[in-house]
Amino acid sequence: MRNETGVDETPRPRSRVKAGSAPTPSAARQPLPESRASAVLRAAVESVTSGRQTREEALLDIPPLMLDELLHPMIDPAFQRCVIARGLPASPGAAWGEITFSPSEAERLADEGRRVILVRVETSPEDIHGMHAATGIVTARGGRTSHAAVVARGMGKPCVTGAGDIRVDERNGVMTAGGMTLKTGDIVTIDGTAGQVLDGAAPMTEPDLPPDFTTVLGWADTFRRLRIRANADTPDDAIAARRFGAEGVGLCRTEHMFFDAKRIRAVREMILAETEDKRRASLATLLSVQRQDFAEIFHIMDGLPVTVRLLDPPLHEFLPKDEDDRAAIAESLGMTPEKMRRRAAELDEFNPMLGFRGCRLAIAYPEIAEMQARAIFEAAIAVERDTGTAVNLEIMVPLVATRAELDLVKARIDATAAAVRGELGATVQYQIGTMIELPRACLAAGDIARSAEFFSFGTNDLTQTAFGMSRDDAGTFLGAYILKGVLPFDPFTSIDADGVGELIRIGVERGRKTRPGIKLGLCGEHGGDPASIAFFHDAGLNYISCSPYRVPIARLAAAQAALRAEPL
Ligand code: PEP
Ligand code: MG
Repeated sequence: MRNETGVDETPRPRSRVKAGSAPTPSAARQPLPESRASAVLRAAVESVTSGRQTREEALLDIPPLMLDELLHPMIDPAFQRCVIARGLPASPGAAWGEITFSPSEAERLADEGRRVILVRVETSPEDIHGMHAATGIVTARGGRTSHAAVVARGMGKPCVTGAGDIRVDERNGVMTAGGMTLKTGDIVTIDGTAGQVLDGAAPMTEPDLPPDFTTVLGWADTFRRLRIRANADTPDDAIAARRFGAEGVGLCRTEHMFFDAKRIRAVREMILAETEDKRRASLATLLSVQRQDFAEIFHIMDGLPVTVRLLDPPLHEFLPKDEDDRAAIAESLGMTPEKMRRRAAELDEFNPMLGFRGCRLAIAYPEIAEMQARAIFEAAIAVERDTGTAVNLEIMVPLVATRAELDLVKARIDATAAAVRGELGATVQYQIGTMIELPRACLAAGDIARSAEFFSFGTNDLTQTAFGMSRDDAGTFLGAYILKGVLPFDPFTSIDADGVGELIRIGVERGRKTRPGIKLGLCGEHGGDPASIAFFHDAGLNYISCSPYRVPIARLAAAQAALRAEPL
């Protein structure tokens, strides 16, 4: 029984490795055969060297997604799988480990050198330490662009989201799946490429970048027209981005810089503060950590373009959920618990993805945009002084629907630049642009381009808003849509050319009409999907940006798109 990914899914007897006993899958101790991907790359290089194929022909024969096999651990293809649950293939690669339902427990076990799979109903920013510690992540809810998926892809860790077959009881440390009850410490394997959870520990092939990988991607770079950047939120991401050949950072999601426990507290204080003074006090704490992070990223990118996006935190991801957290924040803000409850209730939203996020935050609380702009400019000045290399800086405003929104935020950024110039006696070159991630922004792109020096299409939100399907909840019904032929594929993975794609084409055409030289990029998760990349090439974008581990795939897919568009 093979599924569409070619994986053998015939049910097998259970092969549980008990918790506590170190699982030593036999195949993991033997040298595994050369992976399919290594063999394909080797054959491509040999056929070009021997003159049987041109480079163009050889490149067109390589399936880009196959490169995942070289970038992530994978389950040994000969292994007989016992699949206990299915979900969405949210981040490629495979991992096995002991189940834990608690991020703090994941951290503790990882510190002891144990391998952990973090299982949650869904993840939120406060789980980030556990996600770092885990070898893989499973969530019962969520889609391809929900928190767990986006964060795991950025980390290069396997992740399965929307595993609706799993019932998770986080409090009691138990989950049921495939007719089995598993508890904390039981061992599972997850395959984020196929979207599966397996019983027991599977043997893995380890990632390996053979010299043919560099040769083939070097050829690809000579044919592609699209530039490839990476979505990088931390210095580690930026290092990975450069290692895989990214030509810049196309999206630095600054809210992801606050996932650390100490920082998230300051963000929460900032959001929950009732007065501007109190908000400014929390912002002062955030200023120094942001400045430090930006400086490191600018250093690493060494003059390549870096797009820093101003805060875009959907509030439900950031507000404290439990009473203890709320009480601690109330104390540091000098609020009574009752006042804190009222403030939290005020900010509670029915539909946070369409709520108080994006540029709306900067418009209501301009001091937030000012703090971020200051951190960016001060970091850029320090790095330029230090290295003598100019920072190639792009500041991006999220979730813009009208030019007036962009203009308001832009005025604050420009005023902050002038203030920093006066204080430090140094100037920084920068561009200000916007995400185009709402249908209205695509339609109004001609007007928005009067103020924006660049656009970056945010296809996660654009897909969500064009279809009117929540990116966090679509997992529950998309399976039925695909099964019944309503949609040919998940539009959060591969671009819906007829609808969302049409909006992009309108945005491109109207934006260029107003400002012919406008830089047009894309930073949604579709930037790592080969079929979507072909569409973006055809739509005339200048660059795409994807998670660092997708960069090699994007380099190859962009070359193939160029070669197919202009046949040999
Ligand atoms: C997007 O919406 O496509 C995007 C890149 O932004 P985010 O995923 O952070 O909303
Ligand atoms: Mg978005």
